[in-house]
Amino acid sequence: LPSKRITGIVPSGKDGWEVHFAAMTRKQAGEDILMLSVGDHDFDTPHETVAACVEAVRTGHHHYIQLPGLPRLREGLARLSSECTGVETVPEEIIVTQGGQGALFAACQGVLDPGSHAIIVSPYYATYPGTVRAAGATFTEVETRSDDGFEPRAAAIAEAIQPETRAILVNSPNNPTGAVYSRATMEAIAELCRKHDLWLISDEVYWTIRAGREHVSPRALPGMKERTLVVNSLSKSHGMTGWRVGWLTAPADFVRHLISLNLVSSYGMVDFVSRAATAAVENGHGVEEIAARYAARREAFLEAVRGLNGVAVRGSEGGMYVMLDISRVNADCEAFAWELLETENVAVMPGTSFGAAAEGHIRVSMCQEEPILREAAARLRRFIGRTE
Ligand code: PLP
Repeated sequence: LPSKRITGIVPSGKDGWEVHFAAMTRKQAGEDILMLSVGDHDFDTPHETVAACVEAVRTGHHHYIQLPGLPRLREGLARLSSECTGVETVPEEIIVTQGGQGALFAACQGVLDPGSHAIIVSPYYATYPGTVRAAGATFTEVETRSDDGFEPRAAAIAEAIQPETRAILVNSPNNPTGAVYSRATMEAIAELCRKHDLWLISDEVYWTIRAGREHVSPRALPGMKERTLVVNSLSKSHGMTGWRVGWLTAPADFVRHLISLNLVSSYGMVDFVSRAATAAVENGHGVEEIAARYAARREAFLEAVRGLNGVAVRGSEGGMYVMLDISRVNADCEAFAWELLETENVAVMPGTSFGAAAEGHIRVSMCQEEPILREAAARLRRFIGRTE
């Protein structure tokens, strides 16, 4: 029999992904489906990064590399992390992982024991519950409210703290809501972590995509450097989703333990991919263009859905998605997403995949050009008009 550990992971969300997969099958069969369900760029990785990879493959970079990551990549990521978090970061505080998901996995494995408890702020990125369960831990979902722009209230988090609680997971800029947490919100969460001696796992993979809003990393707050684990990735910021390069910024003695985890899980990263990642990080290939592109898309889409009957937008400031509250049109967001796909050929994710706080919502991905986003908004308007 498979272990309880792996059978217990179970995907989070109900059947939200079914809408996406049904849409993908129809799209591949040649139908005109507007795919706004998935969070992957519609453009390729910047050509300079690709060229660096080709060069690395051609010049013999085919070998095992250091377990915590290629030294030069770690140095580059330490500089990037200093910029992201606002705290001077050294290479010993960095471990390179298989994407942001690898960093999240390492963070949960690193702070949770079987029987531990974690707090996940909801709506959340769909893998959080499974990643906590994979460490043998349980979790409580603390729901944010659309009236608060989906920023968590410290009092609600405090209520969920139990004797076995070891960590709080937050994500800003947020997937799926687009919320960028204010300094006051981060300070209140940090205060709880200090008071109750908790780790804070801070997922900052969208930190470059925030349309001018201040990015507040809890690592920079007083007394937090030693208890914050920052999950980061080149997937979104550098247009490198398929390359699987992420990293965790953590205290150096914590990283030392994670090196053992890498030893037994991946035996480190891919040599030539690490060299391409180094070039991407050292030169910032694509970063500004990608951030500007998503800012323009978000603005275009928000403009196009403004005033849409019965639909509210809250919290959408950064990241790659906009979440719409469609509960006044249809309280069942899964049914809404299926009908939207059936009648208007628009694929979005129902909120059910992102936790209880996303019920009654749909997540619209900005991973398409502006004319497609405007067309999707027009179809949404027609669809909602029809259901009235
Ligand atoms: N964290 C959040 C909030 C995400 O949205 C994603 C990917 O969509 C990840 C982590 C995982 O990133 P990666 O693709 O680098 O594993």
